[in-house]
Amino acid sequence: MESALTARDRVGVQDFVLLENYNSEAAFIENLRRRFKENLIYTYIGSVLVSVNPYKELEIYSKQQMERYRGVITSFYAVSDNTYRAMRTERKDQCILISGESGAGKTEASKKILLYYAVTCPANDHMAALGDRLLQSNPVLEAFGNAKTLRNDNSSRFGKYMDVQFDFRGTPVGGHILNYLLEKSRVVHQNQGERNFHIFYQLLDGGDDNLLSTLDLERNPQNYHYMVKGNCPRVSSINDKNNWKVVMKALPVIGFTEQEKLLNIIAGVLHLGNTQFGEGEEGETYITTETQIMTLAKLLGVDGSALREALTHKKLTAKGEEMISPLNFEQAVCARDALAKAVYGRTFTWLVEKINQSLSSKDSSVIGLLDIYGFEVLQHNSFEQFCINYCNEKLQQLFIELTLRSEQEEYETEGIAWETVKYFDNKIICDLIEEKHKGIISILVCMSSYLERLVIHKLANGKTRRVMSREEFRLLHYAGEVNYNVNGFLDKNNDLLNRNLKEVMCQSDNQILSHCFRKEEVIDQKRQEMAATQFKNSLMKLMEILMSKEPSYVRCIKPNDAKQPGKFDEVLVRHQVKYLGLMENLRVRRAGFAYRRRFEAFLQRYKPLCPETWPNWNGRLVDGVSLLVNHLGYKPEEYKLGRSKIFIRFPKTLFTTEDALEAK
Ligand code: ADP
Ligand code: MG
Repeated sequence: MESALTARDRVGVQDFVLLENYNSEAAFIENLRRRFKENLIYTYIGSVLVSVNPYKELEIYSKQQMERYRGVITSFYAVSDNTYRAMRTERKDQCILISGESGAGKTEASKKILLYYAVTCPANDHMAALGDRLLQSNPVLEAFGNAKTLRNDNSSRFGKYMDVQFDFRGTPVGGHILNYLLEKSRVVHQNQGERNFHIFYQLLDGGDDNLLSTLDLERNPQNYHYMVKGNCPRVSSINDKNNWKVVMKALPVIGFTEQEKLLNIIAGVLHLGNTQFGEGEEGETYITTETQIMTLAKLLGVDGSALREALTHKKLTAKGEEMISPLNFEQAVCARDALAKAVYGRTFTWLVEKINQSLSSKDSSVIGLLDIYGFEVLQHNSFEQFCINYCNEKLQQLFIELTLRSEQEEYETEGIAWETVKYFDNKIICDLIEEKHKGIISILVCMSSYLERLVIHKLANGKTRRVMSREEFRLLHYAGEVNYNVNGFLDKNNDLLNRNLKEVMCQSDNQILSHCFRKEEVIDQKRQEMAATQFKNSLMKLMEILMSKEPSYVRCIKPNDAKQPGKFDEVLVRHQVKYLGLMENLRVRRAGFAYRRRFEAFLQRYKPLCPETWPNWNGRLVDGVSLLVNHLGYKPEEYKLGRSKIFIRFPKTLFTTEDALEAK
């Protein structure tokens, strides 16, 4: 922390560790508010950057500003810059973890960090092309993975971890993306006021007449069930037509040659949504949209009658015997929607892989960027919230571990005795969720297979209704209590596609689909992994990746629900301060010394306050600092001198010194 405190900064502190009363949430929020009103949207907690969404364009992101603010500790770019420098000088991989609730500014922050590297890092010819690909991959990912929600017109509906790879000169040369938990349910259902993924609207609005007729699509979204569940096909802040052009231009830049196949799939999903069922005399289900099912089959590259059969029947294996049983109306609708979700979800993953191929490079140093949804508490919390909050719980655990670790390391290198720190260790909650055999996820897996056996058993007896309990369970997360409703929980965890639908799909002559639906999956009768288990495993991998890196943090806060500039809703902000665990961050950070500064910087700033160090000190730095603080009357318990830094325990000490400087 080597910056100068100016009078303006002290109106509100630029770093929360300088707050007098660091246990007071009110003081914390007041500091945020005062800075926000002055358009100072960034404040640090040590190495954690807290950002408040301004909902207006600030003049701080231009190239000139990037250059100007490069070394300034209070600026947004300090995170990007420090991270980059640490990667270069310490040769250690870095990561920047960005969290916050929907609409808080995570994705904008990650884009700005990327842009910073693209603009300020040393370049070569290869780099120009790569920078282009890196930046161009964004609109594509956003078209397929983002949607309009009530909270954010351009909400990312998936978690994203991206490695930016650098060569030995510090030039960015590659990238790699991992995607998490795409919200597939959005493909088939949208809440009031929300939309499906952008790409559907872009296609209808921007695709030319020829293309639409090839795909057998009409321009009006009203004609497609999957597009109008939320009743808002048009959004004033979104220009679908333009965005379509951007995406179509970006695809070839990131090495796409499968555009046509991709669009067939997108159109296929829309046709799938329009597939309707009727109920026969004996409760059997049939498809009423006969001509359209043929179009659908053509678009998906599969056999029409096989698809028809698979959408209305289920294949089960019970006691080694294969049974085909007709689906009732509800089940057929479910099967159809499950197929739409699977097709879209897998295509999305394929898309990410494709982008990775175009970005891949062998070079070594890495800065990772994690843009992932923050802790979420809704009126009704279900499987999605469970996964998201579990993820945040793990990230909090990582934060505590790594912050304490790096504190300890710094104390060691500086030769200062380590003092134990009190904090809430949330390992117990993580264990409760993920422990083998006993954890909630294990229990879910057991319950799912139990229910499935139950269903098979009942099917054999001619009954098909599944009995579901209406229980809730409660977890005490680090950020607060959350009740989870298990209604629908198991189905979402199960998320399985009928085997005969899989069989049809893996025969597809659309290469994207045949890549997404592997024959082995059908042949291999081994149970498919449950969604929660899959998520747990990918989280474990993520944790491993992050553990091997030096972390920095960006915590994003949404100031109001109206998406308006200048409005600071204190109640809303208080919630987020809590859910982001910021007070806890501060406590961990403040557990030892509030402030530390390199000897040079400390001397440079305060040398006028002591006749022996003014105008120049020519002896050993540590002796100069020692003379200076003695002269200033620092008490032994207020500070410690390390090998290269002075550690100051209370902010007040520093403030008094600043006042003295100002009075001079
Ligand atoms: P999140 O990814 O956290 O859901 P976004 O990054 O998509 O949120 O931000 C939501 C919206 O808020 C953006 O579309 C933009 O209008 C506005 N916004 C976010 N960050 C900034 C910023 N730094 N400056 C200006 N506007 C911003
Ligand atoms: Mg986002």
